[in-house]
Amino acid sequence: MPSWGRDTRGVKMGAFDGKVALVTGAGGGLGRAYALALAKEGAAVVVNDLGVSRHGEDEGQALAEKVVDEIKALGGKAVADRGSVSSADDAQAMIARAIENFGRLDIVINNAGILRDKTLVRMDEAMWDQVIDVHLKGTFLVTKFAVEAMIKAGQGGRIINTSSYAGLKGNFGQTNYGAAKAGIAGLTRVVALECARYKITCNAIAPVAKTRMTEELDMVPESYAAEDVAPLVMWLASEEAAGVSGRVFGAHGRHYFEYVVETTPGVEREAAWTLEAVGKNFEAITAPAGTGGEAAGEDAAKARAIFEALPQVFD
Ligand code: NAD
Repeated sequence: MPSWGRDTRGVKMGAFDGKVALVTGAGGGLGRAYALALAKEGAAVVVNDLGVSRHGEDEGQALAEKVVDEIKALGGKAVADRGSVSSADDAQAMIARAIENFGRLDIVINNAGILRDKTLVRMDEAMWDQVIDVHLKGTFLVTKFAVEAMIKAGQGGRIINTSSYAGLKGNFGQTNYGAAKAGIAGLTRVVALECARYKITCNAIAPVAKTRMTEELDMVPESYAAEDVAPLVMWLASEEAAGVSGRVFGAHGRHYFEYVVETTPGVEREAAWTLEAVGKNFEAITAPAGTGGEAAGEDAAKARAIFEALPQVFD
C-alpha cells in the first residue's frame, strides 16, 4: 500500500492513488462516507445513487451529483451515476462509466438499499420483491458485471457487500430485508471461492450507523457515525487485505468485529436415524465443541474432506 502523507515534492499521496472505485447508493449515509473517504485517499470514484427515498420512492433526486460536487471541492476525482442497481442495463452502465472515465475498476462497494418493513402477515408481494430486487439482485448484478470486467483486466479487485444484523441474527418486521441481507452473506462467500484465482476478494460488512435509514430507531445511538464505519471498508478495499475473503464483519459505529458461522461437532450414527433417535440425541447434536457432543468418526472426516474439495470440483 502506498505510504500516507506527502512525497518529497510535497504532493499529497493517498492510500488509493491510481485506484478506481464504484460505490452504489453513495448519495447519502454510509455510501457517501465511503465515497468521500476513498476520494480523500486518492481514489477516483463513481458515485452511484438512484436518488430515492428510504422506501425507494420519489426517484430522481440529485443525490449522487451533490456528493460528486463535495469530492471535487476537496480536489478529488468523481463522476455521478443515477442508475438503479436492480437493472442489469444500469449495472452494466455503472461499470462502463468507471472504465470510460477512469480507465479501470478496482473496488466495488455494494451499498445501495431501501426498507419496506412489515411483519410477515402484513407484508405484500410487492414489498418483498422491491427489497429483494434492490439489495440481493442489485448486489448480484453489480458484482457479476464488475467481476467480469476485473477478470478481463487481470489486475485483481475488491468487492465489499453490505449485509446486516437483521439477516445474520434476525430482526422483527424485516422478513424481506433479513432474507436479502442473509442472501448477500451467502453470495459473498460463494463469490470469494469463485474469484480467489483471479485475486479478487469479496467480503461483506454489517454496519450500524445513524443515517436517514436509522434516524427513527432509538437503539442506534446518535454517536454512531457513518464516517466511523468507513475505515473498515477502506481497509478491506486495500492491498493489505489481499488474503481476506469470504468473510462478514460487523461495524457498530467504532466497534468492529467478525460474524462467524459455527457448526457443532454433531453426531454420526452407524444405524439409520429414526424420529425417536433424533429426539434422544438432540442435545448431543447441538452441543458446542468441547462439551461432549463429538461423535464425528471416520465418515464425518470423509464428508468434511469432500466439502473442502468442492471449490476445486467446480473449477
Ligand atoms: P441511506 O438510505 O442513507 O442510503 C441508501 C442509498 O441507496 C440512498 O441514497 C438511496 O437513494 C440509494 N438507493 C436506493 N435504491 C437504489 C437503487 N435501486 N440503485 C441505486 N441506489 C439506490 O441508508 P444507509 O443507512 O446509508 O444504508 C446503506 C446500506 O447499509 C444499505 O444497504 C443498508 O441496508 C445497510 N445498513 C445500514 C444500517 C444502518 O445502521 N444505517 C444497518 C444495517 C445495514
